[in-house]
Amino acid sequence: MVDAWMDEDVHDVIVVGGGPTGMMLAAELRLRGIDVVVLEKEEEPSRLVRSLGLHARSIEILDQRGILELFLAEGTTYPGVGRFAGIPSSSSPELDTAHEFTLGIPQPVTDRLLEERARELGADVRRGREVVGLAQDAESVDLILADGEHVRGRWAVACDGGRSRVRGLLGIGFPGEAAEHEWLLGEMEVTAPAEEVAAVSERVRREHRGFGIGPSSNPGLHRAVVPAANVAEDRTEGPSFEEFLERLRTFAGTDFGAHSPVSLTRFTDATRLAEHFRSGRVLLTGDAAHVHPPLGGQGLNLGIQDAFNLGWKLAALISGQAPPALLDSYEAERRPVAADVLTTTRAQSVLISGEPGALALRRVLGELMELPEVDRLLSEKIASLSIRYDLWPGDEAPGGIVGRRLRDMPVGPGRLYERMREGRWLLLDPTGSFDAEQRSDAVDQLVEPAEGLPARAVLLRPDGHIAWAATEPAADGAGAPVAHPSPDQQGLESVIEHWLPQ
Ligand SMILES: Cc1cc2nc3c(=O)[nH]c(=O)nc-3n(C[C@H](O)[C@H](O)[C@H](O)COP(=O)(O)OP(=O)(O)OC[C@H]3O[C@@H](n4cnc5c(N)ncnc54)[C@H](O)[C@@H]3O)c2cc1C
Repeated sequence: MVDAWMDEDVHDVIVVGGGPTGMMLAAELRLRGIDVVVLEKEEEPSRLVRSLGLHARSIEILDQRGILELFLAEGTTYPGVGRFAGIPSSSSPELDTAHEFTLGIPQPVTDRLLEERARELGADVRRGREVVGLAQDAESVDLILADGEHVRGRWAVACDGGRSRVRGLLGIGFPGEAAEHEWLLGEMEVTAPAEEVAAVSERVRREHRGFGIGPSSNPGLHRAVVPAANVAEDRTEGPSFEEFLERLRTFAGTDFGAHSPVSLTRFTDATRLAEHFRSGRVLLTGDAAHVHPPLGGQGLNLGIQDAFNLGWKLAALISGQAPPALLDSYEAERRPVAADVLTTTRAQSVLISGEPGALALRRVLGELMELPEVDRLLSEKIASLSIRYDLWPGDEAPGGIVGRRLRDMPVGPGRLYERMREGRWLLLDPTGSFDAEQRSDAVDQLVEPAEGLPARAVLLRPDGHIAWAATEPAADGAGAPVAHPSPDQQGLESVIEHWLPQ
């Protein structure tokens, strides 16, 4: 039961978990002046390198908020987007993005940069605070910490990872497939020479794709992944170093003289999706809402994108600038996206198994991927470029673009994404035919040439997805004035009225 509190004791949002999803969300909320506390159970950031990189859509998002340069400075760019199940193709379809590359960047660096961003924007990040209990009523959420402290918020968001305590406290089901395989992941020093480590790793990987050892991005350390003997019953405990060494010897015939482990953990191929992404005043995001094997490297990307979808909506609701339905759209939009990622990782798990049937399927799929359309479809899934939210039934915009994200493009003397840094609604209207005056306080209007705009004008949400697009071409194709209110202007006004009511 939640007691009566003084208003000033109640924060706008409590983010539980300071991983990449939690920090991205905190930053998005702070961008709009929302009072945010992040509760993170660990005293220090993890040094463990799980994710190795970012895909095109996440890269676009960082660019839309003006922080991509920081990530580029600490990572390595690779041309092209991630390959489905690692299957090569020579078809090279043209993808609808100005960011057609992958960014190799170790997760601790991504986590640090996102935490710095959240703190710079004013998020109150509290480390060493583990949430162990939760109660909520119609007004607020009471979070109970391991030391007995209570922290209260009008809203709470579970960003506490795949074994989410908050999801368990809410009783939200997490159906899916239990783990069949487990791997041990660790960082340690080795005495074996680098050439020997590389040669042995390459040899073992020919038969066991789940094995790998090589230099870590943490100087002086090696990162090793090795299949475990079985799926541990109690996965709250990491493996012992002895267990790790034994598995290295089993697969590689040597433990590489490994010593001084810095981190040891387990991960599995469990695939699960939360039944709901919301219960009352608490929402789920990132791994707390969905888990899958790390094939295709999508989990962290998905979490960042969840946070990007949720942040502006929750902020708008708290600021009284949105209808409650806007928050409902978070689950409606993101749960199907997560379900699709689960499908593609399930498919990739089968394709990398090395079984004769899987090898045959890889060959068939490889031939199909020589068709640019097939290659494009699968590449866009990995890079999260083909997402289209179902905003309106009967979207009549050219090419069905409503609900899709808009790629970066030259606008006036600069670029579109440079104009999205504040995370506001944007009416991109090169011909100056429309107006959003009814909510000029919330919608920026850009009347500048836009190269490659797929409609005469578009209204972009703060997450860069198209909420409205003009359906009629300009009379002379380049900006002849139209009578007001045109059907398109009326359409624009009704979209604004719907999502941004006065
Ligand atoms: C081997 C491996 C490789 C991977 N490679 C990739 C990749 O290349 N690309 C990719 O996109 N993804 C990859 N992933 C997945 C990625 O690591 C996760 O999807 C990502 O970390 C999820 O972020 P999150 O913030 O949702 O959860 P987490 O990173 O798990 O963060 C959750 C945070 O919540 C904290 N917490 C937990 N419980 C509590 C509590 N009760 N109270 C307070 N705090 C709490 C934790 O300490 C943690 O800091 C990989 C994963 C693995 C295991």
